[in-house]
Amino acid sequence: MKIGLIGLGIMGRPMAKNILKGGFTDLLVSDLNQAAVDDVVSCGAKQATNKEIGETCDVVLTMLPNSPHVKAVMLGANGVSNYMKEGQVFIDMSSINPVASKEIAAELAKKGVEMLDAPVSGGEPKAIDGTLSFMVGGKQEIFDKFKPLLETMGASIVRCGEVGAGNTTKLANQIVVACNIQAVAEAFTMAQKAGVDPQLVFEAIKGGLAGSTVMNAKAPMMIAGDDKPGFKIDLHIKDLNNALDCAHSVGAPVPMTAAVQEILQWMHNHEGGQKDHSAIAQYYEFLTDIKIGR
Ligand code: NAD
Repeated sequence: MKIGLIGLGIMGRPMAKNILKGGFTDLLVSDLNQAAVDDVVSCGAKQATNKEIGETCDVVLTMLPNSPHVKAVMLGANGVSNYMKEGQVFIDMSSINPVASKEIAAELAKKGVEMLDAPVSGGEPKAIDGTLSFMVGGKQEIFDKFKPLLETMGASIVRCGEVGAGNTTKLANQIVVACNIQAVAEAFTMAQKAGVDPQLVFEAIKGGLAGSTVMNAKAPMMIAGDDKPGFKIDLHIKDLNNALDCAHSVGAPVPMTAAVQEILQWMHNHEGGQKDHSAIAQYYEFLTDIKIGR
């Protein structure tokens, strides 16, 4: 099977390497960042243009920031879909607005090209380990055919419904993660202000009901003051904008999402959007004039 992958950022680069390691060695790649391309090419992939990818690949994968990037790469003037024909498949692994997923799928369907939306959770560590969780929307037979390819990058591959269902599930995931990070930061700040070491709070509560994968990953970063991304604040703002948009269009109130979005926006304005999303803790540090755990 010939595969194309466009988008070799924090996530796409290790995912490309796991595709190669998984035995899918006929891999064409592309990114605006030549250093990222060179790195993946040194592992066995080949650099290619949108035209080469569209004309020759059985399946085209993307791992790009947001809906406009995926639309431009696939449907733009020199977009990949211009060169695709009936029978080829597009799998978008980016986290984008589910409305955009459906629009892209509708455009591709005019050419007989099937699409899955297949965003992931797990972040950079699981992208490197090949243990991401995929949430997938699209036809069952297309899902079944390409599940082995996704299994080279992920440990959990779940079909959630038709096209758009993957990204709807991802938005639900992003709401849970953001609110969980905010709760951990708020709780640790309160504990430290009340005279209890946040590290001991973490050790005491992580095995109980309050414990979570988010707490295990992000509490040590908050306590160490480590804000290296990981998952960038600006990407989480993008996801929650998509979540608010989706929620408003279906009439589902999301007050917690709106609150944490405002904190992320404050972080973007005051601290820069390139920090890890666990830097939400720095908002609480600003409010209380402490450094969590230090
Ligand atoms: P990133 O910003 O590190 O990577 C995006 C890559 O896309 C960059 O290398 C950029 O050069 C490339 N790109 C942008 N426009 C392009 C174009 N027109 N043609 C070719 N390449 C182009 O982002 P990331 O962290 O890898 O995230 C990618 C997607 O995965 C996002 O939708 C994000 O929300 C999602 N995601 C990220 C994480 C995480 O922890 N980083 C976790 C789960 C999901």
